[in-house]
Amino acid sequence: MNMITNHMPTAELQALDAAHHMHPFTTNNELAEKGARIITRAKGVTLTDSEGNEILDAMAGLWCVNLGYGRDELAEAAMRQMKELPYYNTFFMTSHVPAIALSTKLAELAPGNLNHTFFASSGSEANDTNIRLVRTYWAELGKPEKKVIIARKNGYHGSSVGSASLGGMKPMHAQGGLPIPDVHHIDQPYWYGEGGDKSPEEFGLERAQQLEQAIHEIGEDRVAAFIAEPIQGAGGVIIPPSTYWPEIQRICDKYEILLIADEVITGFGRTGNWFASQTFDIKPDIMTIAKGLSSGYAPIGGSIVSDEVAKVMDACEFVHGYTYSGHPVACAVALENLRILDEEKVVERAGAETAPYMRQKWESLTDHPLVGEATISGLMGSIALTPDKASRAAFAADSGTAGYICRESCFANSLVMRHTGDRMVVSPPLVITKSEIDTLVDRAWKALDQTHKRLTDEGLMKAAS
Ligand SMILES: *Cc1c(COP(=O)(O)O)cnc(C)c1O
Repeated sequence: MNMITNHMPTAELQALDAAHHMHPFTTNNELAEKGARIITRAKGVTLTDSEGNEILDAMAGLWCVNLGYGRDELAEAAMRQMKELPYYNTFFMTSHVPAIALSTKLAELAPGNLNHTFFASSGSEANDTNIRLVRTYWAELGKPEKKVIIARKNGYHGSSVGSASLGGMKPMHAQGGLPIPDVHHIDQPYWYGEGGDKSPEEFGLERAQQLEQAIHEIGEDRVAAFIAEPIQGAGGVIIPPSTYWPEIQRICDKYEILLIADEVITGFGRTGNWFASQTFDIKPDIMTIAKGLSSGYAPIGGSIVSDEVAKVMDACEFVHGYTYSGHPVACAVALENLRILDEEKVVERAGAETAPYMRQKWESLTDHPLVGEATISGLMGSIALTPDKASRAAFAADSGTAGYICRESCFANSLVMRHTGDRMVVSPPLVITKSEIDTLVDRAWKALDQTHKRLTDEGLMKAAS
């Protein structure tokens, strides 16, 4: 089976990649200089590159391969569906079995009265749907002026114009004239980085109350919705203090603001429950899903909305949709993924057995001189690199300098960990075994040692003043 992917020497593949392939979130000239690492196959939690190196993928691709790589059942589900009905749309008073079955399964799995799914092919598209959906919802109720969406700095909701506007990533806003109008950003509940002398609980409450202040400033009659990730993923796996979500929920309820939980990463077992809304007792009106929905085997996302929201939206024509909304092959793959996550008790085991073991191992990294904190929820965790543990100091060097060195050291030790600034993040497939967790943490420790040495040798172990 290697003839498709290994038909050329690595250097030739890299040259063609550099000549013709524009990579996302990459300075392509720098990449061309180095040459891309070319991944040729994968099984379980292990990637193989074109040189035959085996790498432990502690990121589950981009937070999505919850079931692990190499499950034939998903390939077979795709093939069966392609042969039977490879494509049909769901626009013109038509439907098909995979979309019906998947939306029914999602209604069963999603908490509360989230019973209705509008499909997309990605998380970005689903959040674009949400922007138009919440504004249309209020317009249908006779309140068209209720269209401001409140979101958070350092949140991530996707890369399209709409979803990147909801996101609070400054470098993304700087390119292409974002954000779109009527999106407002409040501060994030990042205690370690921004909490100063306050207790996490005090700080969490304070950051949640910024939502109430923003509603007062903007005007209750103008705010449509609040969107947030239960745990910020791309922002660095920021787990909010325990006081945060209850206060957010109180405020959304009090002012009748629609609450959108972006569960693109946290959904489908990542925090040890099917959804982080269960982990944090959040009652969203709308939930964004993608990534783990198909374990990344096919591109699919969606917005699951409550009975109340659906009741309003169902009475009008929502002039919105994607050619591939509810794509039959993607739906069939997602269904098979959910069947396995459910029947093989992958989510249950991740929560009850794997997560406690991972937590204990992960938290042991705080013994390393470079690690200021280690936090984890279910199977998504992060560590903060610091030149001074006692003061939780940031580095004097640009944010991301130490993180980048650490990521390169991880690669050198056959481990994929990602860095966000100077936080290292992990989010392994949920099927990771205890011995693979041991390997992950051993390699992380070695990478931290090497990072520490390099930072010391290069005079970078200096705290920002
Ligand atoms: C990845 C991500 C998205 C965007 O999903 P895409 O499939 O990349 O468009 C949206 N929200 C969150 C929280 C994400 O992590």
